[in-house]
Amino acid sequence: MLASRVSQSYRFTVQNVFKRFQSAQASLATSSIESMREESIFTEEHIALRQSLRKIIENEINPHVEQWENEKMFPAHRVMKTLGSNGFLGVNKPVEYGGLGLDFSYSIAVAEELGNINCGGIPMAIGVQTDMATPALARFGSDELRTQFLVPTIAGDFVACLGVSEPGAGSDVANITTTAVKDGDDFVINGAKMWTTSGMQADWMCLLANTGGENAHSNKSLICLPLDTKGVHRAKKIEKIGMHSSDTAQIFLEDVRIPQRYLIGDEGQGFTYQMLQFQEERLFAAAGILAPLEKCIAYTIDYCRERKIFGKPILDNQVVHFRMAELATEIELVRSMLYRSVALYLKGQDVTKLASMNKLKSGRLAREVADSCLQYWGGMGYTDEVPVSRYYRDCRLLSIGGGADEVMLSIICKYMGSLPKQKK
Ligand SMILES: Cc1cc2nc3c(=O)[nH]c(=O)nc-3n(C[C@H](O)[C@H](O)[C@H](O)COP(=O)(O)OP(=O)(O)OC[C@H]3O[C@@H](n4cnc5c(N)ncnc54)[C@H](O)[C@@H]3O)c2cc1C
Repeated sequence: MLASRVSQSYRFTVQNVFKRFQSAQASLATSSIESMREESIFTEEHIALRQSLRKIIENEINPHVEQWENEKMFPAHRVMKTLGSNGFLGVNKPVEYGGLGLDFSYSIAVAEELGNINCGGIPMAIGVQTDMATPALARFGSDELRTQFLVPTIAGDFVACLGVSEPGAGSDVANITTTAVKDGDDFVINGAKMWTTSGMQADWMCLLANTGGENAHSNKSLICLPLDTKGVHRAKKIEKIGMHSSDTAQIFLEDVRIPQRYLIGDEGQGFTYQMLQFQEERLFAAAGILAPLEKCIAYTIDYCRERKIFGKPILDNQVVHFRMAELATEIELVRSMLYRSVALYLKGQDVTKLASMNKLKSGRLAREVADSCLQYWGGMGYTDEVPVSRYYRDCRLLSIGGGADEVMLSIICKYMGSLPKQKK
């Protein structure tokens, strides 16, 4: 292996690097809890919640991350059950359905803490379960539907996934072609879903499908689709450059028959519900990237302090320590925007524009931080054996998944009144 061949000549062997990361992580973790006390949107309750989640991450998740990354799949049911039993899958969901009934700022605290998992794939799948597949169900679903799908999802007995993207429609959500046609008391569903996070393991999908009508914004509905239904084909697990521990599926739906009562809320409101759901999804994504970026910088400082070239530590070159300071400043800016957006969201304001700005900026910064840091690791950064390369691969998704940067820019332009009107 490349690393073992080169390690003899490095004072910083791979094992050494990992040991140092573990201790760096512990000190980082402590410092970020301390800094939370100074944050405007967090109270002692948020901190307590975060501390108990941290214990689960340290004891139940991080010790297995390397294995799950290598196996290219984490055991979603096992991890969700652990989190669900401890209340972490329904932090802002109603108490009557097993949630903690707390406000969205607690979900943000959880999202930030999930960033301490040593890979991006597992937090992403958890985010799908808590803040992508279930907000519309919790808000608009019937009691019967919430009992059947939301309760076990919050408890961690069900793994949920979100079926919006298709082979022919990702950014252009309005253009999806999957249909759910009424037949007696049922819907008969035909189509295909692509890029479905946890799709190989999930029990049910929050499905966006066309249910009738010409207007692309009012002909769609969200439907709870049990994935053990006849006609659901989990066609393949997609191989990816990063997010290895998360399984990503392509799913075909062929004459899938389910009761119409599985419709979430009102028929034809799926696009609107999905857009509302996107606000939380995008803020959750921005929160989840803060810890990984801070850790990426901290590990890099640590490495560059140890590794000497041209007779001095890499870190002592001004270009290097200044770059780290510059990136840390950018992270603080993203954090401030996030907390302001969350505070406004809690007041009931529409934060679609701000949520899009958060997603855009955090995606771009994630690329910048991971790329800049990797550079200073030299050849070691180009191996699979140090965390910086995982950050580089995993962070790259943020500018694409859940709405690409350009989609965020279009939304922001729309709110600024500068987006050209589309020709009918
Ligand atoms: C690992 C992973 C997990 C995912 N998980 C899920 C999931 O759980 N559920 C789900 O529904 N989807 C999921 N997605 C899909 C994701 O949301 C889409 O990949 C994303 O929305 C982009 O769609 P697309 O891939 O079809 O790219 P396209 O729509 O083909 O866009 C390609 C590129 O075109 C550019 N572009 C887009 N719009 C514009 C514009 N207006 N102007 C200029 N350029 C533009 C962007 O750079 C974009 O990246 C996941 C994707 C990945 C890779």
